[in-house]
Amino acid sequence: MNVAFIGLGAIGTPMARRVAEAGFPLAVWNRTTSRAHEFAAATKAHAEPTPADAVRDADVVITCLPNSPEVLSLLDGEHGLLAGLKRGATLVDCTSGEPATSRVIAQRLRQQGVDFIDAPVSGGVSGAEKGALTVMVGGDASVLERVRPVLQSFGQKIVHCGAVGAGDALKAVNNALLAVHIWSAAEGLALLAKEGVSAKVALDVINASSGRSNASMNLFPERVLTRAFPRTFRLALLDKDVGIAAAVASADAIPAPVLQLTSALWKTAHNALGEVADHVEAVKLIEQWAGVEIA
Ligand code: NDP
Repeated sequence: MNVAFIGLGAIGTPMARRVAEAGFPLAVWNRTTSRAHEFAAATKAHAEPTPADAVRDADVVITCLPNSPEVLSLLDGEHGLLAGLKRGATLVDCTSGEPATSRVIAQRLRQQGVDFIDAPVSGGVSGAEKGALTVMVGGDASVLERVRPVLQSFGQKIVHCGAVGAGDALKAVNNALLAVHIWSAAEGLALLAKEGVSAKVALDVINASSGRSNASMNLFPERVLTRAFPRTFRLALLDKDVGIAAAVASADAIPAPVLQLTSALWKTAHNALGEVADHVEAVKLIEQWAGVEIA
């Protein structure tokens, strides 16, 4: 299968590298051209000048952009994806996107004989580098089976979740839980600091008790207590994910006060900390509000 990869960002790059290393002939396109050329120089991939050129020979096209509207915006125009995609190809959108927009994209592609699955991933940059991502798929199960060998180059657990949009919906809820866990752990550890309990002691107890989470077990010990705050997943993207979960809840008339409040809090953090901050850096804002350092 010929593969094209569109979007060589923080997680797209290691995912595309795994596809190249698995031996699939690979064409890449990235908005900032230099990134595509650097990638091609380091692998056997070809960097192409436009999205249409990248996908012309592809059986499987993988997109990994910030959100679904960016994927939608690449479809049209002389150099857009629809100008290059061949009938019978499959577009696998690994963007953490919006279910409703994915359904629009699927419909547009179907008119041109192209299949679509939404396939957002979880596991972070380190998971992508190890080929250990979880991939949550919405769309036809038979389409997933056709492209599974490509997904296996970066995914360890690949789960069919439902119709188009189901992967996006599940990813948004997963990341909303991550956002709740980071925020609530930071509030809790801040108040414990004021009560004279160090974060190290608190996490030692919580991680052997019922309040533990990935945030308490991994993110806080590795990124907050060390003050390392590595930039692997932009806060702006987590804000987007919680916003998707809150918007879907509203659209489905599901009362979700925790999701709505969490979305508002992460928007505040996004505004305060900007576009390049990592998601875990939201803890710094909570520390600032509380007047303590979680250490
Ligand atoms: P980045 O911000 O690092 O990269 C975004 C990529 O999209 C870049 O290649 C960028 O190009 C491209 N891009 C942005 N806007 C446009 C546009 N309008 N048209 C064309 N290309 C565009 O994001 P990540 O790689 O971190 O994330 C990608 C997706 O994966 C997101 O949906 C994110 O939520 C999800 N994700 C990320 C994880 C992580 O740990 N980083 C973990 C799990 C999911 P350019 O180089 O020109 O800026």
